[in-house]
Amino acid sequence: MRIQLLPSSFDANGHATLEQRLTCFLIDARVAVDAGSIAIALTPQERLDVRDIIVTHPHMDHIASLPIFIDDLYATLKEPMRVHATPEVIELLEKDVFNWNVYPRFSELQNDYGPVMEYIPIPVDRPFKVAHLTVQAIPVNHIVPTIGLIVSHNQTSVAFSSDTAETEAFWKAVNSKRQLDALLIEASFPNEMAKLAAVSRHFTPASLGQELTKLTHNGMDILAVHLKPMYRQTIINQLADLQIPKLAVMEPGRTYSW
Ligand SMILES: [Zn+2]
Ligand SMILES: [Zn+2]
Repeated sequence: MRIQLLPSSFDANGHATLEQRLTCFLIDARVAVDAGSIAIALTPQERLDVRDIIVTHPHMDHIASLPIFIDDLYATLKEPMRVHATPEVIELLEKDVFNWNVYPRFSELQNDYGPVMEYIPIPVDRPFKVAHLTVQAIPVNHIVPTIGLIVSHNQTSVAFSSDTAETEAFWKAVNSKRQLDALLIEASFPNEMAKLAAVSRHFTPASLGQELTKLTHNGMDILAVHLKPMYRQTIINQLADLQIPKLAVMEPGRTYSW
């Protein structure tokens, strides 16, 4: 499985930078997990190939360019863009984003080939298929309805925490997998901002260190994501202080393979 965290910030010369303001992971150049930077960072070929997008929750940093992505491709879509989300999140996207005011309700629109956008409700009680992947969704602890994911293909499994604070069901599901190759987990705020992390339901390096004691798998890559750009270096230093084997910060733009 190949996974890339799409870049979302660029320097004056147009080169991607390490700051991660928007969240969008691309899996095997075909399936997106969240859509923050989807309209910004995909190659022309990837634009042709990505027709399945899993939305973990409707926060702006996770959906910012989803409407623009569909808009860009509108006339050329020969199959609808499939947006996979829980029924609660679908309702929020329809009410607050694709509501004719913020943007058109693409789920009701067609081009010459047919519908341009289709919602696929995600079940949280059983695994489901997205393209070639098997996906399990687990509700996590964030301030809006949010799911973590375990994504599998053949013998490989990768877990995504999405945005969350302390949680139990996610670890139960992760620990029950026979094999785990990588864990992509959020570390949003530095330790000094523990209060803000708690009210907005995010981790600091310290609370993440605590949380990882619930993980029973060993030896997989643990990649921290969702670092607030303003505090990136502080968070990196505090993560290093945890001295957890194979814990690193995920680099936007780099393709990881498991
Ligand atoms: Zn969020
Ligand atoms: Zn977020």
